[in-house]
Amino acid sequence: MAYIQFLGAAGTVTGSKHLVKTGSDLDGKAGFQMLIDCGMFQGAKEWRERNWQPTPIPARGIDAVILTYAHLDHCGWIPRLVREGFRGPIYATPSTIDLCGIILPDSGHLQEEDANFYNRHRKSKHHPALPLYTLAEAEASLQCFRPVHFEETRQLSPDISFRFVRAAHILGSSMVELALNTDGQVRRLLFTGDIGRVRDNHVAPGKVVRSGPTEGEIADVLVMESTYGNRNHPTDDPRPKLAEIIRQTVQRGGSVVVPAFAVERTQKFLFILKELMESGQLPRIPVYCDSPMAIKAVEVFLKHEEECSDETCRLIRQYGSPLRWPGFTFALTSEESKKINAAQFPAIIVSSSGMVTGGRILHHLMQRLPDPKNTVIFIGFQAPGTRGFTIKSGAPEVRIFGETVAIRAQIATLEQFSDHADTPELLEWLHTFPSKPGITYLVHGEPAASSQLRGAMARELGWNVQVAEWMEKAIV
Ligand SMILES: [Zn+2]
Repeated sequence: MAYIQFLGAAGTVTGSKHLVKTGSDLDGKAGFQMLIDCGMFQGAKEWRERNWQPTPIPARGIDAVILTYAHLDHCGWIPRLVREGFRGPIYATPSTIDLCGIILPDSGHLQEEDANFYNRHRKSKHHPALPLYTLAEAEASLQCFRPVHFEETRQLSPDISFRFVRAAHILGSSMVELALNTDGQVRRLLFTGDIGRVRDNHVAPGKVVRSGPTEGEIADVLVMESTYGNRNHPTDDPRPKLAEIIRQTVQRGGSVVVPAFAVERTQKFLFILKELMESGQLPRIPVYCDSPMAIKAVEVFLKHEEECSDETCRLIRQYGSPLRWPGFTFALTSEESKKINAAQFPAIIVSSSGMVTGGRILHHLMQRLPDPKNTVIFIGFQAPGTRGFTIKSGAPEVRIFGETVAIRAQIATLEQFSDHADTPELLEWLHTFPSKPGITYLVHGEPAASSQLRGAMARELGWNVQVAEWMEKAIV
């Protein structure tokens, strides 16, 4: 007897957190309890408020966490779990652990900064505003991490084992194959985490890690993401369009601001800018990368070249570390960041967070959104409820630091830079399964995306598919 309870990423794309509980409360047999992912809710307030709720079973009673990858919507609640008493191991691939070493402390730092800001300006209804966790708590949680390499089987108990296979989303990203031996029967559970691009081609330029999630998976129960369950990515090469947008902005004396996830998306975007400049498609205007986390992540990427795509390896060989390119400035300190604000000449500013939920991008947008000469380019997913979503959807104004900021800058979107598989790619990957899973639960999608993918899977594959509901328990 075992069940999965969907504690997050059900009805939304953030807060990935799935409790797997084995053993029976009824017969008193001691079971094993684990979380697959431990992500933070982001976006709309109704979701973010769930970050303050405890786990349905006491955190100290959870035996292990298995982490698919290092974005906050999958790992960002780990320090809170540890704060609540979790003391078990957190299993992740070595590159995921390196990235968490950057991402989690940064998240703790941002939580503290936000709380301080709201307390100083008395903008919060909660007095005093508290951080979900602190920088010190985030750093302490890193002690729990244990590396597990791709395709290495790890035994959790005599009856439970798991293995990471490639998800091809970002560096270190994995799917979790979980084998439960219950009453002499092996049940195979597959958690996809976030699924990367299925094919390598020009429509997904600059992909840092190799495309192609592991094929031929077998599962009795599949728990699958559905972020782009209702979307076909454009299939044209985005680079000429990107170059055109930047050239036009520069011609009218404006600057380009690009909100980008600090890990993976920023590095990929910088390589694309470098290529466009080297090939003469872009003028050599100053590029500012204003994200200390992105700077540290560059080092992690260079350390794990074995996961990188052929294109990335070629670019690294050709141009070396982005940290040493002329014309590219990396702002580590807040003093360096402030200098960018003073720059009046056309420039390209790449900063995070990617969905404009916090971080230095807020200052850049606050300053540059009101001016129609400037352009904001979105190159990543924007969850409903985030400032990024508001700006991207053509709103006339947005709230930043408690103030109303007019949006007069040009807004552009280039979906091709996505690191997520779109619907045709997801179906293509599912076609590689040699047999139908008994049941599939769709998670990590807005309701429309999940339900459309469910329809497509039933139609095209004849699979038994359900959209997971928040807090629902599924017997496996
Ligand atoms: Zn995700």
